Amino acid sequence: MAKKVVVIGAGFAGLAAASSLAQKGYDVTVLEKNDQAGGRARKFEAEGFTFDMGPSWYWMPEVFEQFFQRFGKSTSDYYDLIRLDPSYEVVFGEGETMEVPANREALFALFERYETGSSKHLAKFLKEAAYKYKVGMKEFVFKPSHSIWEFADPRILSSLFKLEMFSSISSSIRKLFRNEKLIQLLEFPVLFLGARPENTPALYSLMNYADLELGTWYPMGGMHKIIEGMVALAEELGVKIELGQEVQQIYVPNGHATKVVTSSSEFEADVVVGGADYHHIEQKLLAPHLRQYGENYWQKRTMAPSSLLFYVGINKKLEGLHHHTLFFDEDFGQHAIEIYDQPQWPSKPLFYVCAPSVTDSSVAPAGCENLFFLIPLAPGLDDQPAVREQYFEIILNRFEKLTGHSIRNNIVYRRSYAHSDFERDYHAYKGNAYGLANTLWQTAFLKPKMKSRKVKNLFYTGQLTTPGPGVPPSLISGQVVAEEVEKLL
Ligand SMILES: Cc1cc2nc3c(=O)[nH]c(=O)nc-3n(C[C@H](O)[C@H](O)[C@H](O)COP(=O)(O)OP(=O)(O)OC[C@H]3O[C@@H](n4cnc5c(N)ncnc54)[C@H](O)[C@@H]3O)c2cc1C
Repeated sequence: MAKKVVVIGAGFAGLAAASSLAQKGYDVTVLEKNDQAGGRARKFEAEGFTFDMGPSWYWMPEVFEQFFQRFGKSTSDYYDLIRLDPSYEVVFGEGETMEVPANREALFALFERYETGSSKHLAKFLKEAAYKYKVGMKEFVFKPSHSIWEFADPRILSSLFKLEMFSSISSSIRKLFRNEKLIQLLEFPVLFLGARPENTPALYSLMNYADLELGTWYPMGGMHKIIEGMVALAEELGVKIELGQEVQQIYVPNGHATKVVTSSSEFEADVVVGGADYHHIEQKLLAPHLRQYGENYWQKRTMAPSSLLFYVGINKKLEGLHHHTLFFDEDFGQHAIEIYDQPQWPSKPLFYVCAPSVTDSSVAPAGCENLFFLIPLAPGLDDQPAVREQYFEIILNRFEKLTGHSIRNNIVYRRSYAHSDFERDYHAYKGNAYGLANTLWQTAFLKPKMKSRKVKNLFYTGQLTTPGPGVPPSLISGQVVAEEVEKLL
């Protein structure tokens, strides 16, 4: 009889863990509370539009490719990937826009236009970033990070200086560049890690390598195509995915989980892998004496931001709009204070617009545009309808003014999504969108642990444990946890 593994949650991490475990010969069942797999990367359809609900940036394509290759497959067996060019546009103010090209020479020329001599610095910066990316991918992210000793390897120790673990990415960028717009461009990828550049180790300039060298890609049909591919793969491997099964308890009689109880059923388990939010699993599904981290611990964590999102259908085409546009026309410093230091609704928010219909006609009716607006916000805010409405007005006015497109009277569909939705749909602690921030004190072995110290056969995966937030890290997290389960069984 194959050993039974129950995975809680069908997000990227849960699905990656499930397939990896099924490949090792275990009998795997995934229990997902929602009626669709994908977690934060679900999709919905309305009025002929198909909206991706969460991630929209496809970075680090080789992480996805390597995942499918583990199973003798390729991403192209499940979806068609294209590289965007320009990768994205940044709007700094009225008439002040920067298109970030996919081509390296064009990128260097762009830097020279903003700051004479900066292309030389960019070459140095990207060379170091490439080193960090390669070492990070090879030596760090695929480690379970149970303890500091995993990193006590001469090769890793000798690279620590070059990895710049102990200086901030902000200071490392400012040493090389003076132009504020270039600085903003280089600091932007850190937003994916959930912390401000001043608090993010310079190690994470590896994200700049991912951005500027490896490029921004898009799976035709939308980001949810990745999930559809992962579900198809998991089912090919014999994984059972049970939707609409909300786990309510992990039954642990003698320090050993024996079954998982949902609202309508019970599932026996030799091992349980928690792919739902870590805080939820510990605080809600386990008895108090089995929790490793109390509420106090979670209160002190730096959570990655939440978001206010608007999924908007427009009944006309918006010529000149790019697939990804960042609106950096207000002061990021102030917005960051309002996210991290004094959590509150921002006075002048930065925001981001994704328009996948610019690239992909399948996600909107003919002659229409599919828009996704995102404002990063402090977790834990009260997101009443009136305040959501107020912020829609703010960003709508700015979008119209800065792009020159009037859309107010062309909105044929609109839905908002914020903290309380994240809490209801994913049991997200404080309504976080991207999990736990990658600050220095929340990196690697300093994150909530992948293996429970109190329940012998309980493991955690996903964006609140190692290696961190984002789709590629969640995919990696699922693969790493599968290796850890195998060591136990
Ligand atoms: C708005 C937004 C934009 C983003 N943009 C990007 C981007 O552009 N690029 C990028 O790389 N990343 C992005 N991210 C981050 C990325 O989407 C996440 O890091 C990743 O999807 C997390 O995957 P996960 O498997 O850890 O968690 P989840 O996707 O949250 O999966 C956990 C699953 O567990 C389920 N669950 C919870 N409780 C229970 C229970 N009791 N019983 C059963 N099931 C349960 C949930 O329903 C969910 O399906 C974005 C996230 C958001 C929200």
